[in-house]
Amino acid sequence: MFDLRALYQEVIIDHNRHPRNCRRLDSADRIAEGYNPLCGDRLTVYVKVHEGVVEDVSFEGSGCAISVASASLMTEHIKGKTAHEVDQLFARFRSMVTDATPTEEGLGKLEVLAGVREFPARVKCATLAWHTLKSALSNEHSTVTTE
Ligand code: ZN
Repeated sequence: MFDLRALYQEVIIDHNRHPRNCRRLDSADRIAEGYNPLCGDRLTVYVKVHEGVVEDVSFEGSGCAISVASASLMTEHIKGKTAHEVDQLFARFRSMVTDATPTEEGLGKLEVLAGVREFPARVKCATLAWHTLKSALSNEHSTVTTE
């Protein structure tokens, strides 16, 4: 039988070793920092918004494999989306990693992180990038923590 779990792990390991959009974004007009004290994950998320749409997004930081892979996957999914669409995607992503009966349809590659649900301590690692992104989009120039 095809081992989906192994595939998911491979995707996470790949995104951790070769994170996408992992760079400083000089043209960014929104920047936020995120910190997860439970695990020590630190991220800076850069966003360039044009006419209400995420034109470009990147991140920098250091953290565990889950936090880096989640940030990498997130940047791949939100380009071209409006802040409202990003909110909806985050809500569905959060539901996937925290709810007992999540809806995972339509989350694409983000679904590789569904297994985090079984490790409550890692949920904050998986959602750190999203919380930081949300803070950047709402233009609160501050450091968010998952606490
Ligand atoms: Zn972590």
